[in-house]
Amino acid sequence: MRIDLHTHSSVSDGTDTPAELVDKAHAVGLDVVALTDHDTFDGLDAAAAEGERLGVVVVPGMELSCSRQGSSVHVLAYGADPASPGLAAEMARVRGGRLGRLTGVLAKLAALGVPVSEAEVMAQVGTSPSVGRPHIADALIKAGHVRDRQEAFDRFLADGGPAHVPRYTIEVDRGIDLVHEAGGLAVIAHPWGRGREHVLPPQVLAALVHDHGLDGIEVDHQDHDADIRARLRVLADSLDLLATGSSDYHGAGKLDHDLGCNTTDPEVFNEMQRRLAHFTPASGRPLPPSSR
Ligand SMILES: [Zn+2]
Ligand SMILES: [Zn+2]
Repeated sequence: MRIDLHTHSSVSDGTDTPAELVDKAHAVGLDVVALTDHDTFDGLDAAAAEGERLGVVVVPGMELSCSRQGSSVHVLAYGADPASPGLAAEMARVRGGRLGRLTGVLAKLAALGVPVSEAEVMAQVGTSPSVGRPHIADALIKAGHVRDRQEAFDRFLADGGPAHVPRYTIEVDRGIDLVHEAGGLAVIAHPWGRGREHVLPPQVLAALVHDHGLDGIEVDHQDHDADIRARLRVLADSLDLLATGSSDYHGAGKLDHDLGCNTTDPEVFNEMQRRLAHFTPASGRPLPPSSR
């Protein structure tokens, strides 16, 4: 059984519609795929319907933008109830913060001599309710200022870059609590990717497990080299964390993140389903049954 638990559709900053994404998951032989768009559940119904049609198990997910001491931390939520009021309210604030930040970023880009208009950015957003830096990057590409998203981030948009503007995010411990209140499982995405080990050192991860019941960490991810994966796996074992593996697929929006390039062990997925069954089923949204 092949399982990929982290993907993005055009509902956030991917390039495939939710149905197209599930089609492609089916085409590359995945049995289980989680749709985890940034700060929105809007693509889940379309993905689930296509999964039903094709016999692909679609896990309802979402990637929540959080932070710790000013650095961004992403929390993957699995099986969380979209109607849970606490989580829904925070997600709306995060999405609002993205929009509010746009004006500031565009002013900085103009001052840096690479102007793009809000209309040019919104043309890249399409129907996504979640405006992100990748959309600004796409507008910069369209305007001929950069070649690709990587260059846009490296030169302008990355955290601490010359056009970066901080935005509203939730502290990671609160984010984990909200996912649990919504009946979901909380797994930290790419915890040590891109030199971020100092943001979530082992003792901090241990505290998140002990004080907030963190469920897992993404171990196999393209932003982790072999050494980091090995050390995270040892850490996951010692903290009794679920160790997941996923592509973080964005369609054409991110190179080297092909569907299924990393996968999650079926045993880990089974444990996730067991744990979800123990969370407040009245408010939770259970994972679909395993197709094994
Ligand atoms: Zn992420
Ligand atoms: Zn992601």
